[in-house]
Amino acid sequence: MITQIKGLHHVTSMARDARINNQFFTDTLGLRRVKQTVNFDAPDVYHLYYGDETGSAGTVMTHFPFPHIARGRAGTGEVGTTLFSVPEGSLGFWQDRLVAHRVGDLELSESFGEKLLNFRAPEGDAMALVEVKGDSRTPWTGNGVGADQAIRGFHSAKLRLRDGGATEELLKFMGYEAKETRDGVLRLVHPEGNGADHIDIEVLPGASRADLGAGSVHHIAFAVPDRAAQAEVRKALLDTGYQVTPPIDRDYFWAIYFRTPGGVLFEIATNEPGFARDEDTAHLGEVLQLPTQHAHLRPILEQTLVPLKETV
Ligand code: ZN
Repeated sequence: MITQIKGLHHVTSMARDARINNQFFTDTLGLRRVKQTVNFDAPDVYHLYYGDETGSAGTVMTHFPFPHIARGRAGTGEVGTTLFSVPEGSLGFWQDRLVAHRVGDLELSESFGEKLLNFRAPEGDAMALVEVKGDSRTPWTGNGVGADQAIRGFHSAKLRLRDGGATEELLKFMGYEAKETRDGVLRLVHPEGNGADHIDIEVLPGASRADLGAGSVHHIAFAVPDRAAQAEVRKALLDTGYQVTPPIDRDYFWAIYFRTPGGVLFEIATNEPGFARDEDTAHLGEVLQLPTQHAHLRPILEQTLVPLKETV
């Protein structure tokens, strides 16, 4: 079994409108934009990162805003819902705030004994805030969101699959433990995670496969401390028969990717070197940062990428 994984690292989704995306995750959800860069494989598109003060593993929501992609269609073989941890007693605040920000599909519910506020991000992303007692992660605050309300990081990702068996086995191999099944959803928990410790699996045998697009999760990444741990995880996965990419330099972490039996793309990402690699922590995410291989594109990108905020 793999022991090097310590919960989620980041969740990456697709969007269409960079400005609306930025406004929602900073002004509405109160996260910090910790990096403004481009998709390293398609540098004409932004890659925007939102998280806590430093972009700690387990807090980082990222988006690729492809200006022309179609809206995704929900189905199986994808992450159905991305859930964030908020303090006990804060959902009333969040409900008022999300109503004021005209956020869609608000619904209070309960899952595994926890209180949830479900909502949709502007491009249809299914998300929820979950009240968690005693989440000790230090939140980013501001924009009218105080420490008693602010998002601590991810609570979980809920996978929606046609057949959950092989993915359950994979997650157990990755260090997760099956906790319980309720209402057809299996909850797995990492006993030594970074706070973003839960993965839920919902099995819908008759449902059609998702079409990924704007509002869909592109992949989820799991955290390992460093490149040595990543190499061990890679070897263990290869030995088990998974097709895993070589390590890829993403500037702020190293990444390996593999497709899971249920269809969801998984990544294993290192906690090092982190987002302060190319700018001071006090000024993370303020200006466009480009990887060396795309640095020559700066004059073009500064013309073509829409500014994230209108200058007033
Ligand atoms: Zn990633």
